[in-house]
Order: sequence, then structure tokens, then C-alpha cells
Amino acid sequence: MGLLTEGEPLSWEETKKLSEHVKKHGIIQFINLYKKLRDRQGDVLKWGDEVEYMIIKFDDNNKTAKLSLRSDEILAKLNEKEEADPSGVKCLWRPEFGAYMIESTPGQPYGGLSAHFNIVEANMKYRRQEAMEQLQPNERIITFTNFLRLGCPNSTDPTSKPTPNSGYQRSLFLSDDAVFPGHPRFKTLATNIRQRRGEKVIINVPIYKDENVPSPFREDLRALGDDGSSEKVAKDDHVYMDAMGFGMGCCCLQVTFQASNIQEARTLYDQLTPFCPIMLALTAACPVYRGHLTDIDGRWFVISNSVDCRTRGERGLEPLKENERKIRTSRYGAVESYLSEQGAKYNDVPLLYDEEVFKQLLDNGIDRLLAQHVAHLFIRDCVCLMSTQLDQDDEVDTNHFENIQSTNWQSMRFKPPPPNSSIGWRVEFRPCDVQLTDFENAALVCFIVLLSRVILSYNLNLLIPISKVEENMTRGVKRDAVNTEKFWFRKDITSTADKSQSIEEEYGEFTVNEIINGKDGVFVGLMPLIVSYLNNMNIDADTHCTVQRYLKLIQKRAAGKLMTTASWLRKQITTHPDYKKDAKITEQINYDILKKVYDIQTGVQSCPELLGFCTTSKTTESVPTAIVNAIK
Ligand code: ADP
Ligand code: MG
Ligand code: MG
Repeated sequence: MGLLTEGEPLSWEETKKLSEHVKKHGIIQFINLYKKLRDRQGDVLKWGDEVEYMIIKFDDNNKTAKLSLRSDEILAKLNEKEEADPSGVKCLWRPEFGAYMIESTPGQPYGGLSAHFNIVEANMKYRRQEAMEQLQPNERIITFTNFLRLGCPNSTDPTSKPTPNSGYQRSLFLSDDAVFPGHPRFKTLATNIRQRRGEKVIINVPIYKDENVPSPFREDLRALGDDGSSEKVAKDDHVYMDAMGFGMGCCCLQVTFQASNIQEARTLYDQLTPFCPIMLALTAACPVYRGHLTDIDGRWFVISNSVDCRTRGERGLEPLKENERKIRTSRYGAVESYLSEQGAKYNDVPLLYDEEVFKQLLDNGIDRLLAQHVAHLFIRDCVCLMSTQLDQDDEVDTNHFENIQSTNWQSMRFKPPPPNSSIGWRVEFRPCDVQLTDFENAALVCFIVLLSRVILSYNLNLLIPISKVEENMTRGVKRDAVNTEKFWFRKDITSTADKSQSIEEEYGEFTVNEIINGKDGVFVGLMPLIVSYLNNMNIDADTHCTVQRYLKLIQKRAAGKLMTTASWLRKQITTHPDYKKDAKITEQINYDILKKVYDIQTGVQSCPELLGFCTTSKTTESVPTAIVNAIK
């Protein structure tokens, strides 16, 4: 997403006063945009990935690996090419929350050619190379979901101390210097979320109760400068965190695709929603928080809590104040309502929205499902407002709408076309933890895009009640969920709904293996459907070979024959000679694992338990001319 750079961010007090203004105009902007673009048809499939990286500084003499807080400097360099030739670059670089993070996307979205599946990985490799050119000799970029010692002493370069009594985050552990300084959005979000909430965010993750973890596990927070407020909310036997950076400082992998029209976008949004928790389990890569091994494998709820701006009243902890109402969820979370007609009857969680806004949308010709979705997004206050953004022309601008939309971080995002652009209605798939290698990340991206094609071509129906999807999200981050959890899933996804069946009869509990690979006579499996789709597709030999390898990886992960990144990390930690069965990640463990991670990413070391033996594909930098010519 492009970020506006002009102007100054307003204080929370000012933003709060103007929040109604932003919402009022944001809704009008959406209505205007909808009226102009609802009938837009015939957009072709385009899609693209977003990969987030962290920059690590290794010190091989002292055996340390730290977060290098140089992304601002590095990005300035990386963006020079784009500034000189915006449409000619192979990749785009963008800031992210951490001062050690960078994000990249392909220079142009990929199109509908099957041969595009074969250039994703090469493009990802190219990005690493391009970034490497801007790094200092000891710096490396890695795709790693959460830095193992994020928020531990001496974990950044330069070293920087937390400031519990001043600054944006007020964390006992994490310095504000770890927040990207080059754009005011990030620090403003951190400040305003904390101020709106009325206290610091609270994140408690159950610790992995290894033999030598004391019972109860409880840290001396007063010694870190706590005034008692953290001590009160930090749970026993949990790793406690208190800042936005602990969540938004995690790296993820996202995929966006363009639909041919708004209906198709709504269908894709709905159909992929029940699949999000399955991908949480399958891509789980995040078992460690603040230097401790924990009992969860994925980042999802950590981020959700890290940006939970609800007041105590809104969270139901104390009587409501004036203008407050109870809000069930954080602004980061699972999709809470389906958007397609088919999805309507599965919307079984109470959706909060403003009746007046809802009515305004209905009065302007927007149907109930879309109206309630948009009205629900707009229950959230604006938490970052720039002085230059205040007055907009609601006929042409959509910044106020985007302001609210882009701070509703849901498992799927429904993206309207930007005004005056060639871009169509899109959906974004957002649950995945990022994987170590380009091979894995490309595999996931291609798999998700293929799944979206199969859903549309075969008219699949994956819908189950949204409350069950929500329950699945909790299961998806559990330790080793791929092998030990069952997920609610629709039993028959290929035929149209049997009207004699009740909704409860339509779904059952399945393992990830059954959902992906199928179960004889019981469930068809998504992979066999993808394979059948591919067999009917005109696809060149190299692309075919690459895609086969990608699908194999996913099949094996789902079947538990290959480890998830989270399981692999657990094993690295618990078998490390320096590990004392105390759930602690020492500097040495951190260094050794990140070295290994880097070597695996660059292919210097193989890792069959994670990747199998077939980790190279036939990926190429561009679609071969013969293929381009053949379709002309
Ligand atoms: P976000 O809103 O999540 O910041 P961006 O709009 O920056 O996302 O882009 C996300 C992804 O969408 C990128 O991978 C980009 O290549 C891809 N993308 C860009 N244009 C289109 C399009 N017309 N259709 C589908 N994907 C697109
Ligand atoms: Mg991002
Ligand atoms: Mg995105």
C-alpha cells in the first residue's frame, strides 16, 4: 500500500475529535465509489504476493544476531530504482511496522497465464539479491516470522533501551527505536491505539512448560520499571508482552487477487474465509515470543491483541462510558461476516454496526450484506490522521474510506478498486506466517491462487457458519495443529447444498491432512481437485514441473511428513546444546538458529525434514517468449 507522506500526524485528542468526520466522509466516499464501480466487469485475473523480511546483523566473533534498525536507510536506496522508472522495476519495496522490516511485492502483478506460476519464485529470489546489494557486510535479510529475541535486552543494532514512561509504546521490553521511523503512520498508530484503549496493550502467550520452567512462571516486571500496571495483567505461566511491535513486528505472507467483477470478489472472499484457519496451521512458523518458547505456533492472536484499541468498557471489563458500546473483537481478527448471497445464512455471529450508517448505505442502493460489512468496519475509530488529509473531495478521493479500511486487519480483505485506476475489485488473503525459503513462499502463493481458480471453476462451496471459522482460528495456532487438531469444515464441497440438510449436518471435523489431501469415501480433498484442474489446463512443461513440486511440499506438510516451520524451530531450540529446558532462547541459540535459517534460505544447507529432498523448481525470471507468442 502506498503511504501518504505529506503533513503531520494529529495527536490522539485531535484525531478523536475528528474521527466522526473521517467516518462520515469515508462512508460517503465508499458510496460514491460503489456507485461508479459496482457494474465494472471483465477485469482479468491478476494477482501478486507481499513478502515481509527482517534485517539481521550477525556478529560472528561474539556469536550474536541482532535486528538491524536500518530499514529506513535501506528502503531509501531500494526505492531509487522505482522512483526513476516506476513501471519498469521488477519489484517494489515498502516500509513495514518494524525499523528492521521491509516488504516487497512484484513490480507488476502477475496475470492469468499459467506460466506466471513459474516466475513467482525467481522474482522472490531477485528481491533478496536486490536487497542484499544495499546491506552492510554483516547484514542479511531473512524471511522469518518473529525474531526469537524480540524485546530482549541487546536485541537490536544499535542497542536501544525501552522507555516505559515515555514515547509511543511505553513498553517494558521493546524500544520505540524498533518502530519504523521513516513514516509517521507507525508510531502514530502505536500511540493512538494505546491512548484510545486507555492503557498499554496486553498480550499473554502460554509458555512452553518444559522441565525447568518454574511453576508458576512469573517475571519480575517491577525490576524493569513497571509501575504495577503490567504486573496486574501479566498472567502466570505466560509470556507477557505489552506493545504493538510484538505483533505488527512479525513478518507475514499475503496474496491479493483481482476478480472479474464485484460478485466474483464477494464469492472469493467468502469461499476463502473458511480456509484461513487451515492455513494458519499449515504455515505456522512462530512458536517463540520475547525470547521464550511458548505453547502456540502462530502469530495471529498476538497481533490481534497487539492492536486491540478497545477501552476497558468496550471490552466488557467495566461499565460503559458515554458513547461507548461493547465490542466483541479487536480490529485485527477473523472475518466476521460473509459477503455473498450464498454466505448469508452462515452469518451467525452478532455483527456490530451503527444502524444509521447501515441505513445510509442501504438507502444508497447497497445490499444488506455489503452494507453490514462496511458498517462494521466503520465501528472502529480512526487511529491515524494526517493534518493534510482532513478536507477531501468525496467525489474523487477515498482516503477517509481507506483510512478505516486499512486499519481493519482481517483474515481476508475485500478491496474496492482505487478511484481512477485500471485496478478492479480484489480480495486479499492474509493469514499466512512467512516461510523461510522462496521455494516455500512461492509454493504457498501458487497454491492459494490455484485454489481460488478451482473454487471458481468448479463452483466449490466451502462455507460453514462463521462462528465455526472463528473457533477454527483458535485451533489453527495451537502447538502442532497440523498433526493434532481437527477443524470444522464442510463435508461436501462439490455439490450444491442439499436443501433437506440442516446447516449443522453440512459440516464436520477434519484434520488438515484430510482437508488438503482428502479421505477416501469421506472427503474429496482440495489437492485432488487442484490436480484435476491442472490436468485440464494448458500448461507448459517447466511450469507444470514447478507447480508439481510446490504442491508436493504442501501435501507433505499437511500429511505431517514434513515439519512446519514452527515444529522445526521447536526442535532446533530443544535439541540445542545450550538449551536448559527452561524455554529460554539464549543469544547463542538465537545466533545459531538464525545462521542456520540463513543457510537454508540461500541453499547452502539442505533441510529435508522441513523441505523434503526436492527443493529446486524450474522457476524462470520471465515468461518464455515462445509462450507469450503462442497466446498472441
Ligand atoms: P496492500 O493494500 O495490502 O498494501 P498493495 O495494494 O500494495 O497491498 O498490493 C498487494 C498486492 O497486490 C501486490 O502483490 C501487488 O502486486 C498486487 N496487485 C497490484 N495490482 C493488482 C491488481 N490489479 N490485481 C491483483 N493484484 C494486484
Ligand atoms: Mg505488510
Ligand atoms: Mg497486504
